Amino acid sequence: MPADYYDLLSVPRDADERTLKKAYRAAAMECHPDRNPGDAAAEARFKNISEAYEVLSDPQKRQIYDRYGHEGLKSQGFGGFHGANVEDIFSHFSDLFGDFFGLGGGGGRRQARRGSDLLIEIEISLKECLDGVQRELEIPREHRCETCNGSGAAAGTQPQTCQGCGGTGQVQVVKGIFHMSSPCPRCRGQGRTIKDPCKPCHGRGRVRVTKTVKVGIPAGIESGMRLRVTGQGEEGPAGTPNGDLYVAVGVTPDPRFERQGPDLGAEVHVPMVKACLGGTFTFEALDGAVEVTLEPGTQPGTVLRVRGRGLPRIDNRSGRGDLHLRVAVDIPRRLTPAQIDLLKAFDSADSPAAT
Ligand SMILES: [Zn+2]
Ligand SMILES: [Zn+2]
Repeated sequence: MPADYYDLLSVPRDADERTLKKAYRAAAMECHPDRNPGDAAAEARFKNISEAYEVLSDPQKRQIYDRYGHEGLKSQGFGGFHGANVEDIFSHFSDLFGDFFGLGGGGGRRQARRGSDLLIEIEISLKECLDGVQRELEIPREHRCETCNGSGAAAGTQPQTCQGCGGTGQVQVVKGIFHMSSPCPRCRGQGRTIKDPCKPCHGRGRVRVTKTVKVGIPAGIESGMRLRVTGQGEEGPAGTPNGDLYVAVGVTPDPRFERQGPDLGAEVHVPMVKACLGGTFTFEALDGAVEVTLEPGTQPGTVLRVRGRGLPRIDNRSGRGDLHLRVAVDIPRRLTPAQIDLLKAFDSADSPAAT
């Protein structure tokens, strides 16, 4: 049973338009996928509240929902947003989100017809994160078939207007109290039929091609972030812009390092005597060797901070995070008789007076 739309937005059942809008924006801010990268629960919640707002902000849909609930909407053909991707939802509500997320406030993104967006996932190493990396991605895309110029009909023939729907692609169906339109079964919503299909595209009007797209992955990127490459998605219908390509970046963890944004953490082992007496040691950081000074009397678990030897900060493009080295002190498991004598002598020697 899907959750109640009023409960999802935490509004009373008689909430007016302003209250709804306010509640939706506040909730959307919280579970916005850009603020919760990789969090599937937040994304699902974002879709649920968007669906709730879509219904309740539309007087007709709201009336159906109030009287017949979720089932009523379903029989009206409203499928909700679960199949939609987050970007589609943004475009849909761009007038609401524009000023919040800098998506251009309902201007250019409004056009309804454009190519679909594509999503591709790639993995980079932690080291590639240090300087950023250029990748050539092989993107399988649909292209207009050049043989038939997208019509799908064989050379010398034309697609015919569908007899089932008169070219609209829709047929009216009566279901109980509702009149609804559904895609014409004869032409599958295309509005036209092809008698003699074009060979290279099998009548689809489009062919699958692989295109190489160069993408620059910025230094400091974190797992779950997405890059948008404008215009490298699917081709739109003739005269409309291409969709965008989204590149979801995963950063393969390096077993030597823990990562916290731009900061890196690692464990270093130092011999017991060096921890007591102090000294220096060399640590192989991601970008080369770094010499670290150890104070005399360094305790196990001490964290030494090496400034600026973490990863670049992605937010302001200047400066790097720090490297945090956690000291583990190695106690020898076996001692020679001479070492045992030395340690016994050490133990019986005077310690400095406690202050
Ligand atoms: Zn063709
Ligand atoms: Zn038809």
